[in-house]
Formats: sequence, C-alpha cells, structure tokens
Amino acid sequence: MPLKQREQQIAEAEELLGDRLAQASFAKGLFFGTFANRKLLDYPNLAADTATLALVDELRRYCQAEIDPVAIDRDAMIPQRIIDGLGRLGMLGACLPAECGGRGLSQTQYCRLLEVLGGHCASTALFVNAHHSIGPRAIVLFGTPEQQQRYLPKLATGEWISAFALTEPEAGSDAANVQTTATPTEDGRGFLLNGTKRWITNGGIAQVLTVMARTPVPSSSLSPGERAGVRGGKTIGGQPETKITAFLVTPDMPGFEVVEARMPKCGVRGSATGRLAFHNMFVPKENVLGQLGKGLRVALTVLDFGRVTFGATCTGAAKFCLQRASRHAATRVQFGEPIGTFELVKEKLAFMNAGAFAIEAATYLTAALIDSGEDDYMLETAMLKVFATDTLWRIINDTIQIFGGKAYFTDEPYERMMRDARINMIGEGANDVLRAFVALVGMRDVGLELKGVLDALSSPLKHFSKLGGFAGRKLEGLFRSPEVRVHHSELEPEAARLGHTVSTFGSNVERLLRTYREEIVERQYQAGRIADAAIELYVSSCVLRRLDALLSLPLGEGSAAADRSRAIPPSPLVGEGRGEGNGHLKSAIASDLIAGRYYLRSAERRIRRALADLWDNDDALATQAANAVLP
Ligand SMILES: Cc1cc2nc3c(=O)[nH]c(=O)nc-3n(C[C@H](O)[C@H](O)[C@H](O)COP(=O)(O)OP(=O)(O)OC[C@H]3O[C@@H](n4cnc5c(N)ncnc54)[C@H](O)[C@@H]3O)c2cc1C
Repeated sequence: MPLKQREQQIAEAEELLGDRLAQASFAKGLFFGTFANRKLLDYPNLAADTATLALVDELRRYCQAEIDPVAIDRDAMIPQRIIDGLGRLGMLGACLPAECGGRGLSQTQYCRLLEVLGGHCASTALFVNAHHSIGPRAIVLFGTPEQQQRYLPKLATGEWISAFALTEPEAGSDAANVQTTATPTEDGRGFLLNGTKRWITNGGIAQVLTVMARTPVPSSSLSPGERAGVRGGKTIGGQPETKITAFLVTPDMPGFEVVEARMPKCGVRGSATGRLAFHNMFVPKENVLGQLGKGLRVALTVLDFGRVTFGATCTGAAKFCLQRASRHAATRVQFGEPIGTFELVKEKLAFMNAGAFAIEAATYLTAALIDSGEDDYMLETAMLKVFATDTLWRIINDTIQIFGGKAYFTDEPYERMMRDARINMIGEGANDVLRAFVALVGMRDVGLELKGVLDALSSPLKHFSKLGGFAGRKLEGLFRSPEVRVHHSELEPEAARLGHTVSTFGSNVERLLRTYREEIVERQYQAGRIADAAIELYVSSCVLRRLDALLSLPLGEGSAAADRSRAIPPSPLVGEGRGEGNGHLKSAIASDLIAGRYYLRSAERRIRRALADLWDNDDALATQAANAVLP
C-alpha cells in the first residue's frame, strides 16, 4: 500500500478513534499482557430480572403461535400482521426511550429478547434488528430533540419502519469510500442527493432511512489530521474536499427511487434487502443527522453498538442446534449404538456445548459493559461479533453432520439455518475486516508505548522515568502473570492458567511489534493470529466470570442454570455427563461448569497454536500460492 494511502487510513482511524484511546478498555489491556479485573464486570444475574423473563416468555409464546419461519423463508416475506404483532409487543421500540414511546429496555434486556427471535426465525430477528438497532439508534444518539420527537414515536410502535443505508457498489467493507453526493443548494435550504445504495435491509419498505452521502467541506475548517482523512476525489460545488454526512431521508422526497425492494437471496429471505437510487433528491438541512462531515462517526458508532446483538441471535440459534443435535445423537442408532456414543460425534457435541455457553457468556457480559455506561467497547463488540458468528457457523455445520442426510432436506430447519447464518460473517463488518481491526487497534497502544520507549532509548538519561516504568512492567511480566481474580476457590486453577496465557499473549504482541514495527499494518496473516488469540482470551475471560457467577447461584428453580437446563434437556445417553447414573453431575450447574471448563481448556489450546504459528508458519508459501492464482 502506498505510504500516502496508509497515512490517510491512519488519519481516518485516528479521527474515528478520537480520544477514546486515552483509557484502555479491558480488551485493549489484554494486548499489554494485563488483566484489568476491575474493568471486567461481574456476570449479570439474568434470572433475577423477572420483568424481562416475563417479556421473554411472552415473546416465546408469540413466536410459537404466530411466526412460521418456514413460510417466511418460502414466501421471502414477513407478513404485515407479524410486524404489527411485534410492534404491539414493544419489540420494535424495545430500547428506545420511554418518552418517545419506546420500552426503554437496556441492551442486556434487548439481547434476551433477540435471543428468542434468533433461535426461532433469523429473518424476523434481522428485520427487527435492522429496524431497531441501527436505524433509530443513530437518531437517539445523534438526533436533535426535534428529529427525535418527529421520528422516534412512530418508529417505536412499528408504524414506521427504518433502514440504515451505507453500502454502495464502491463502498462495502471500505465504508469511507461512499460516492453518493450531497450538494448544498444555492439558497442554503438543504442538499441535493445523487447516487445509489445497495443491499439495504428494509431499504425498499422503510419510511425513514439514515443515508450516508458526501458533502463538501471547506478545507479551512479542517484540522491537519482531518485534512489527511478527506478523500473521495470528487468535486462538489467547486469544493475539492468532501466528507461523509448522515441524512434522514423519507421515501416521499422527490427523486427517491426504490430500484428493487426485495432482492432474491441465499438466506434471511424474509427480510427485504433493497437497492435504492437518489436523483437530485432534495433533503432539507434540518435532516442532517449529527454534525456535517461526521457521518462516518455516526455510522461506526451505530455499528459498534449494534454488533452485540449478533451475540444474542447467535446464542438463540446455537442453543436450538445443541438441543436438537444432542437429542438426535442420543436416539439415532447405527452400528447397534446411538451415534452419540462415537467419539467423533462427541467431539462435535462437546464443541457445540462449550461454544453455546461461551457465546452466551460473552454476549451478556458485553451487553452489561454497554449498559454500565462505559463508552469504549468497540474492541469487545467486534470480538464478540466475530466469535459468535464464526462459532455458530461451525455449530450449524456440526449439527448438519450429526443429522446426516436428514438435515439436507427442507422439512428440517438446518439447511435454512445454514443459509441464514452465512450473512452474519459478512454483514456489519466482514469478519476478516474485523479481525484486522481487532489486531491493529489492540496493538496500536502497545506500539505507541514501544515507540516511546525506543525513542527514549536514543537518549536514556533524559527519559529515565519512561524507561524505568517500562522495564519495571517487563520484569514483573517475566516473573509473574497477571492476577485473575475469582470469588470461588475451585476456579483458581482456571484463573491461574488464564493469567499465564494473557501474559504469554502480551509478550508475543510485543515481540511481534519489535519484529515488524510499522510494517505490522501490512502483515494480515500475523494480525489474524493475534486477533484470533485476543478474541479467545476475551471470551475466556467472560466464560470464567460466568462460571464464577454460576457457583454463587442457588440451585433452585428460577436460577440462570435452571433456565438453561430447561433449554437443554438431560441426555438419555448411558454413562454420559448428564446421565441418570452420574448423581454428582446431575445438576444444571455441574453441566454448565463442564461446558465452561471445556471451553477454557480448548480455547487455551487454540491460543497456544495461534501464537506458535506467529513464529513458525508457511506465510511466504501461502502468498506464493495465492499469487499464483491472482491474475
Ligand atoms: C443480506 C444483506 C443485508 C445487508 N444489509 C445492509 C444494510 O442494512 N445497510 C447497509 O449499509 N449495508 C447492508 N449490507 C451490506 C453489508 O454491510 C456489506 O455486504 C458488508 O459491509 C461487506 O461489504 P461487501 O459485501 O461489499 O464486501 P467487500 O468489501 O467486497 O469484501 C469482500 C471480502 O473481502 C475481504 N476483505 C475486504 N476488505 C478487507 C481487508 N481490508 N482486509 C482483509 N479482508 C478484506 C473480506 O473477506 C470480505 O468478506 C447487507 C448485505 C447483505 C448481504
């Protein structure tokens, strides 16, 4: 990548990250080899929130009675009566403020509800999420009081549906490359929008759309950093410099065209994915959302926030698969045995059990982090999104394998679930892009500190204090892993192992930065490994917190464990962990402990492998093999 382009990207990232980097979040701390016990919350006691449990039960009953995922997939349409029903249940305004007609739920409460939808019908979950999480969220966070009053009440009930329109032919993963223009009118009343948007969920059926477009920015108003971040190469109104601005658009604006309301597609077929065009479409200046030229910040803040919901929908789908696959493995007999007695089937069930437990743990701890008012959670939500969606994909694949040919037919839900789950790894930040993001943002602070130290080394006496602090931490790191605190002594071995792995990870990050320095930006093989290790470390931390919380729970009805055990009935397999003959493992808590502990062990193995591959790999050969097929 040419130097100028790289500087430009760094300037854009700087602008987006702003001063949030000043205080490292829990996940960023992992890159330094530290474990910030105080920053990782206790796992929330979900079962204690009886009001939300009642909402969950109500939604579950509604799903069973009214939402037919097979018909929605077949007809590629969510019937209006379901949209109305979800509106009546408060789902379409779940997190919107009560004064605007919403339910005012927290992110954690909303995730509990989305988990139900995700386990029942992925199309409906996507419809709700696109309407609720990324549409009105921008208005809540960045709208003026007038905009909030005008749009939110009708969005909260579902009378109006919303969409979030960022993607264009030239702007996919590279969201900053939006080409739609918004030219100020000469009378100063507003803007004329020209351009196209594609693949917009609800785009063709929405009454309110958040649309990203380029506006000219007088260069005199830009800081040097911002000037470097300007791009697009388009001239608008004689101004060579343009930046992205968010606009509130309604389809009654002259020049608004729905090119295609429902593009036929692989999965989540009930959701309406549209193509739009704007032809000299006048948008009044009152409809600018947030500040002029700060649209990318609007988009990325909203997407950051929305990513936690992937964890919730994936939790629902993963639990569904686990329940069905374990039941099938216990009853399907081949070679005279239930197939669940074969180790290669057990291997899959074990992964599914641990994976479902871990997705859930990371989802609710990340949601709690957002609810706590912490404003730097971009790494945590990106990590959760990648982990949850990748893990669910494998869980569905394993479920299909366990069901064999039966899963291949459309009278079972698994082929639909597979089609539905594939978009998760592409939308709202493709997983590879997010992996690179996690690694680079995580390593950035460490790199800055290292640079400071290397600068200081050139005149050690002048910078003695900086060197002293660094050396002190290094020495400490050499002899002692960070303390990972747990309430329950029986988890101390797991905590100690996690602390050791965090320390090893931090050392590897530092060694990598010393080896590649600025060039690390180009080393995506390595960044991918660092991201994979960091993601498993974050999820392991969440799993340990959840296990700690489980051990504090009473065993009775209503506990989180009991809630989970209802979702996953005891397996009739003889001699298994949940079997009748294993009294000491009979309780739901014991079974959750096994799932969590197995996750921790297997994650540690994967982390070790990823870190070992940093220094012993076939990257050069991989590049040759890839280049051999690139024209
Ligand atoms: C069903 C559906 C619904 C959607 N809904 C919306 C919506 O409501 N609103 C909206 O604005 N958009 C929406 N999108 C668009 C979606 O957000 C984009 O598909 C996504 O951002 C990725 O862009 P792209 O598909 O153009 O992939 P590309 O950017 O072309 O990337 C293709 C692949 O290249 C790789 N890649 C790209 N860049 C890098 C990199 N820097 N490093 C490493 N690998 C890289 C990744 O593997 C990626 O998957 C939707 C898409 C679909 C399919």
